[in-house]
Order: sequence, then structure tokens, then C-alpha cells
Amino acid sequence: MASQHLPTPAEIPFNTYTMKKPLVGTVVSTEIATAAHRAPGVETRHIVIKSPGLKYLSGQSIGVIPPGINPRNNRPNVLRLYSVASCGRGDDRRGDTVSVIVARHYWDNEETGEKQVPGVCSHYLCDAKVGDELQLTGPVGKRFLLPVDFAERDFVFLATGTGVAPFRGMLADLLESGYEKTVTLVLGVPYADSILYDAEFQALVAKHPNFKYVVAVSRGEDKNQYSDLFPTRGDKVYAHIAMWDQRDVIGPSLMKDNTAVYMCGLKGMEVGLHEVMNKMGQTYGNVEDLVAKLGDEGRLLEEVY
Ligand SMILES: Cc1cc2nc3c(=O)[nH]c(=O)nc-3n(C[C@H](O)[C@H](O)[C@H](O)COP(=O)(O)OP(=O)(O)OC[C@H]3O[C@@H](n4cnc5c(N)ncnc54)[C@H](O)[C@@H]3O)c2cc1C
Repeated sequence: MASQHLPTPAEIPFNTYTMKKPLVGTVVSTEIATAAHRAPGVETRHIVIKSPGLKYLSGQSIGVIPPGINPRNNRPNVLRLYSVASCGRGDDRRGDTVSVIVARHYWDNEETGEKQVPGVCSHYLCDAKVGDELQLTGPVGKRFLLPVDFAERDFVFLATGTGVAPFRGMLADLLESGYEKTVTLVLGVPYADSILYDAEFQALVAKHPNFKYVVAVSRGEDKNQYSDLFPTRGDKVYAHIAMWDQRDVIGPSLMKDNTAVYMCGLKGMEVGLHEVMNKMGQTYGNVEDLVAKLGDEGRLLEEVY
């Protein structure tokens, strides 16, 4: 039986630290989170931050305040949110660190025509060195959390890219508590050598038969075999295609009447995943609109950014 204590809503830590009164954290380690560098400047880093006094839960986010002035309004930069990538006890389970996973963000400025402008905070974090101090806020997020009765439920976690962060913590909460139901993680990434936390998840698969792990590599050699049902650009294998490919594993778990589905990652990912979930509902449970049913019953939680 699971013994992990999860807080009731009243006990959820929330905004202990704010823009006005931030916590000063210190970078303990910073590592490239993928096996390979695809191209100069393309980088995702796992960063562990010493954060004494910060209480948080898997699924919550912390704020990071980058230094400097925002040229758009001549005011100090405001915080950016990052999902915590560690469980509430931190990577070392001692309770005084928080981890985040950060992708360098670039954008094209349509007003000036400037291409590939580096995002302020993602670059600040990816450039941070061990020992650097960071201004932190939070934690925030009261919804995208494991339910108190998690031991009684199956979970389906759907992630793209850094959206895997909350699930890394939640998997630790579940699997280190003696959890006996089934938890599935579907993770979509662009390249086979950019699978985030792959070695860790493989180790969990070897140890916990009730953890199912499905990876979708969109720019790999595999092509979408289901383009008649779910067409994708260039026949790419996105998370929803891999989910459908593993439908006989995921479908029965998805259809249980208290299974909870969590989705986190790139805005837009929900479109294909909803289509596949509805198709699974029709195939495995005679449910016409599974997405609506899960939503109505509070069993579909989505955080896309
Ligand atoms: C709940 C939540 C959780 C998140 N978790 C993660 C996570 O785990 N990992 C992660 O990497 N990211 C995460 N993010 C995204 C993160 O908060 C940042 O948005 C991301 O790092 C980019 O921030 P930045 O400062 O680098 O980019 P910014 O400099 O803030 O640029 C972001 C966008 O702002 C616009 N912009 C900026 N400057 C201008 C300008 N001068 N003129 C016009 N437009 C402009 C552009 O559209 C640009 O794409 C999360 C977001 C949310 C909401």
C-alpha cells in the first residue's frame, strides 16, 4: 500500500516567496539533459538549485526572476515560471533543493525582422554556473498535482519536451511509495538522442513492472503508420501517434473509471492527443467523447505553454 502523505488542498504550499520577497537560491549543479547537442545553441539543461526553506510539490512551478531591465517598458524583468522537475524532497531527497529543466528559447521578432532572438530567462538559467545565486518565487499551482487518493488510481502522463518535468517528480512520489496501480508516461521529443531523463526512466521500467514508458521521436527514422487515421506533417511520429501505437497497453488503463490523465508541454500538443484519446474511448469503452468525460469528471489536467 502507498504510504506517501500528500497534502490536502489547505496544506498546499503556495507563493511563499514573491517578486517583492524572493528566496535567494544557489545553483548546485547544471548539466545538459540530453545525450547530444543537436546544433549550436540548442540546449536543454537540468539545474539543481539549493533552496533552503522552499516547500513545494511535484506538479507545481517556481518563478525565476532574471536580472536586468525589460526594454519594452523600462522596468525590471519579471519572473518566468518553470515546472519543478524534482519531487518535493529534491533530487537527493534531503528536502533543501529544487530542480528545473530549461530549454533555451529563441523567437523571431516580427516588428524588427530580427531572427532567433534569445529568450531572457531561459538563457540566463542555461548560462548560470555552479554557485550563482538566483532569485526564486513560488511555488505556484494548486491543480496540477497528484490527488490525495493516488494509490487507488491509474495515471496516464502525456509530455512533450520539458513538459516531462512534473512527471519526473510525480513518478518518484508514486513509485517510491509502494504504488501498485499502473502509471504510463508517453514522452514526445524531436530526436532519439534528445530524450529527456531516458536512462532514469529506463531504470524505473526495469524496477517497476507497473510503470509503462512510451517514447515518440518525431524526427527519427520511424514514420507515422496511422496517417490514414491521424495524419501528421511529414508523417512524423508525435506523442499521440506513439500513444495510438501502444493502444493495447494504454487503452485498458485509460478506460478505468478513476484513471487520471495529465498533459504537459508545448501548446498545441493537446490537439492530436485529444483525437487519439477519443478514438481510444470509442475503441475500448464505447465512450463517444472521452476527453469531455474526463474533463467533466476532473480527471484530465492540462498544462501547456
Ligand atoms: C506553468 C509553466 C511552466 C513552465 N515550465 C517550463 C519548464 O519546465 N521548462 C522550460 O524551459 N520552460 C517552461 N516554461 C516556459 C518559461 O516560463 C518561459 O516562457 C521560457 O523559458 C521562455 O522565457 P524567456 O525569458 O527565455 O523568453 P522571453 O524573453 O520571455 O520571450 C518569450 C516570448 O515573449 C515574446 N517577446 C519577448 N520579448 C519581446 C519583444 N521585445 N517584443 C515582442 N515579443 C517579445 C516572444 O513571443 C517570445 O517568444 C513554463 C511556462 C509556464 C507557464
